[in-house]
Amino acid sequence: MKKIELVIIGSGPAGYTAGIYAGRAQLKPHLYAGFEIGGQLMYTTEVENFPGYAQGKGPQLMQNMQEQASRFGVEIIAETISAVDFSGSVFKLWTGLPKEITYQEFAQASLDQYLQLAKKIKQQPHDLEAKSVIISTGAVAMMLNLPNEQKLLGRGVSVCAVCDAAFFKDKTVFVVGGGDSAMEDALALARFTSKVTILHRRDEFRASKIMQQRVMSNKNIKVLFNSQVETIVGEDKLEQLEINVNGKKQKIAADGLFLAIGHRPMTKIFSDQLKLDDQNYIVTAQSPSQAGVQLAKHRLNKKGLIPFPTMTSVEGVFAAGDVVDLRYRQAITAAGMGCAAALDAETWLAKQ
Ligand code: NAP
Repeated sequence: MKKIELVIIGSGPAGYTAGIYAGRAQLKPHLYAGFEIGGQLMYTTEVENFPGYAQGKGPQLMQNMQEQASRFGVEIIAETISAVDFSGSVFKLWTGLPKEITYQEFAQASLDQYLQLAKKIKQQPHDLEAKSVIISTGAVAMMLNLPNEQKLLGRGVSVCAVCDAAFFKDKTVFVVGGGDSAMEDALALARFTSKVTILHRRDEFRASKIMQQRVMSNKNIKVLFNSQVETIVGEDKLEQLEINVNGKKQKIAADGLFLAIGHRPMTKIFSDQLKLDDQNYIVTAQSPSQAGVQLAKHRLNKKGLIPFPTMTSVEGVFAAGDVVDLRYRQAITAAGMGCAAALDAETWLAKQ
């Protein structure tokens, strides 16, 4: 069993940035990269909005971050943390899964199924002990689960209009969803093309009124209510969609399909350990939610400052990136938060 000063869970921009800072601070962090090493940027082809990385591919950016973290002594381990116990003064962590459970099953387990599984895992001796933990397990975009969707991700199918809209100048694009993200994505796309269509499965949006008004008054955006994507067609890139509008099927040429049907933060293994908000994001004093504001108020010191803004509801456990952030979800905001979490962990450890 290993005893470690700081464990970082997750290998997206938040995790690697936390690693770079904690490594330079001589904390000898161990970073558990998980089974989706590199996070969401591994599915992005072009990246041009990460400052200092003017043009390049997502996987290359993540490779650069990994190498930079290794250079500062971060031990990067290609394993998944499968269970945690944050109830004591030293945190216990388990890696690996019982033989009969595959990673696929672990990833797809419902919360109840996971909690049953966690009981089994915790019957085994724990693998690590850590004085502090930074969680940067990220979030995954919800998908339609249609054939071809994964294959064409980054080849016409996208889950981030802010990242990819500029690549669709004058192209025919579709946005799926009826929430604020879908409105925001359609507006972002409408700055580059006049051929934006929102496909929404019901006859009314759930987005805020102001976002709906902006969409409805934008002449570049068309809305098809009661519509669903049934088939995604394309070999090397997206070519066509088969959609069902009010029960009528039709085929339409498409260059872009932007999915904005919500995100799921990767917090299952923390669900009975940390305070989560009503959408299952980890709450810190920086969270952009009511729960975050409450925690921040609770954490204010006598000087009116929050000593460790990235700390979760458990002292010594910090969180950064998309696992906290339902609002911005950008690589650069995640990286910034990873830096803040490492600085907070370093100061907190020094005080213990
Ligand atoms: P959301 O509010 O949960 O909306 C998801 C949308 O996707 C819903 O309209 C839902 O349809 C649709 N949907 C879900 N599963 C689907 C499926 N399988 N097929 C087709 N459609 C599907 O998610 P979000 O828009 O990402 O927003 C998340 C949170 O972030 C919200 O609190 C939002 O207000 C906030 N946010 C705010 C801003 C802003 O303030 N500018 C921007 C982005 C996000 P139904 O409506 O039929 O359920």
